[in-house]
Amino acid sequence: MPRLNNMGKEKILVIEDNALNMKLVRSLLMLEDYEVVEADNAEAGIQLAKEQHPDLILMDIQLPGMDGLSATQQLKSDPDVNGIPVVALTAYAMMGDEQKALDAGCAGYISKPLDTKEFPRLISRYLS
Ligand code: MN
Repeated sequence: MPRLNNMGKEKILVIEDNALNMKLVRSLLMLEDYEVVEADNAEAGIQLAKEQHPDLILMDIQLPGMDGLSATQQLKSDPDVNGIPVVALTAYAMMGDEQKALDAGCAGYISKPLDTKEFPRLISRYLS
């Protein structure tokens, strides 16, 4: 089935378990007129990725149950969704997460706390 995005908007799947972080990311993305799809755990996120075929996935690393690195590896091993860029959301304090994210197949990472001015520019770069 061809991808039919609502109104031609680019669709971004956010997988993040922290409600405050999710709210901030959602607000910033909606300001830029992206369509936002949300999951608060890896399993639900993987399912949504397969159903919705988003243009980009923002993946929190620390999630309850399966972590974001394992979820990324799973997505990257599935030919149905492995073309979707995954960008890790890494906590600034977690040294080494950035390299682990790249090793897991992420296209890059964005550090938390988010720089709200820089964030839209990074998103647009990862979408292009
Ligand atoms: Mn988390």
